[in-house]
Amino acid sequence: MLTINENYLKLQASYLFSDIAKRVASFQEKNPQRDVIKLGIGDVTKGLPQACVTAFHKAVDEMAEDATFRGYGPEQGYDFLREAIAVNDFQARRAGISADEIFVSDGAKCDTGNIQELFTTDIKVAIPDPVYPVYLDTNVMAGRTGAFADGRYKGVVYLDSTRENNFVPALPTEDVDLIYLCFPNNPTGSTITKEELEVWVDYARENKAIILFDAAYEAFIRDDSLPKSIYEIEGAKEVAIEFRSFSKNAGFTGTRCAYTVVPIECMAYDSHSKRQAIHPLWNRRHCTKFNGVSYPVQRAAEAVYSEEGKSEVRQLADYYMKNADLVRKEIGVLGYDYVGGENSPYIWIDGKRNSWDFFDMLLDQAGVVCTPGAGFGKCGEGYIRISAFNSYENVERAMARIRDALA
Ligand code: PLP
Repeated sequence: MLTINENYLKLQASYLFSDIAKRVASFQEKNPQRDVIKLGIGDVTKGLPQACVTAFHKAVDEMAEDATFRGYGPEQGYDFLREAIAVNDFQARRAGISADEIFVSDGAKCDTGNIQELFTTDIKVAIPDPVYPVYLDTNVMAGRTGAFADGRYKGVVYLDSTRENNFVPALPTEDVDLIYLCFPNNPTGSTITKEELEVWVDYARENKAIILFDAAYEAFIRDDSLPKSIYEIEGAKEVAIEFRSFSKNAGFTGTRCAYTVVPIECMAYDSHSKRQAIHPLWNRRHCTKFNGVSYPVQRAAEAVYSEEGKSEVRQLADYYMKNADLVRKEIGVLGYDYVGGENSPYIWIDGKRNSWDFFDMLLDQAGVVCTPGAGFGKCGEGYIRISAFNSYENVERAMARIRDALA
């Protein structure tokens, strides 16, 4: 008899986006004449930068000719892309990462989900609340948690992100081994300073822990004093793995390209307390279970680092950040407390009431869709997330309607 991995049965069905879709559909059925503006899901809306499109086309043409055709590529990614990443994203910021420490992949979602496979099931995992749900669910699937009760899985050390700590969680009060951090944060839009991140790196070094640092939104950082990479912190290479993505900076959500940095010095321990490097383990996993990102996509990603690409990517992020500025301004005028939107595309608003009630009110009275914070964890209750990923015209219209509805 074939038995299943029963950890999957512990998973809470992810109702968030399907619930939102149902409520929007029912609203539209009752109000067919009203158009709905969606500021909910964190998907980009603008086309790919021209530099990427040109490189993409050229690479597709190469694939059409026997002489320039490429079959299976290196699982870790082509050298041209790994080099461009190492030089531009790290060495330019004095974070000494080299090309062989970079693993190109088809998404930060997969990488943040898969990385936990390298560690045993009896470790203690610290996960922020509210959170990008992938970190939590993949640990549930692996059997690192108990059952779900009162909005939380037993066995997980939750790191509360609240107004009191400015949405940067404090160190856990019990020992943990694996720590998930995401800055700029999804969903709260909060950021972490170098000094605050240093505290986490020091903790990981002292406690033989590893930090999984998700920097998928680094392109939206406007304050130069904030770290874009955890490797800007002294000693982080020994204790941190970083995830990056081309999804939000270059609009690759549908094109798919990302990368994970596993420094050579990054270590964990075997059952004899002997230090073991993570790099060869991840390399082995990547080569066994993944066959590389397509050549044209990697060429398109490489173009992000050309002079033209850099300027276009900057313009893209600026476009969304102008939207974020407008949301912040309008929400501030209405007297709501919020965080985010200054160095991130998300604005996290204290609705002063149940998240779903606020969602329903915005939908009914303004025809605007947001994301209820409760869907991201217990600490998200009372908040809503507004995403800056839309056209400026739509954000302008949405904010005018919200002003009229809430004023
Ligand atoms: N990490 C965070 C925090 C995200 O919000 C997202 C997507 O929304 C991802 C990772 C996924 O990135 P990718 O498109 O590279 O899979």
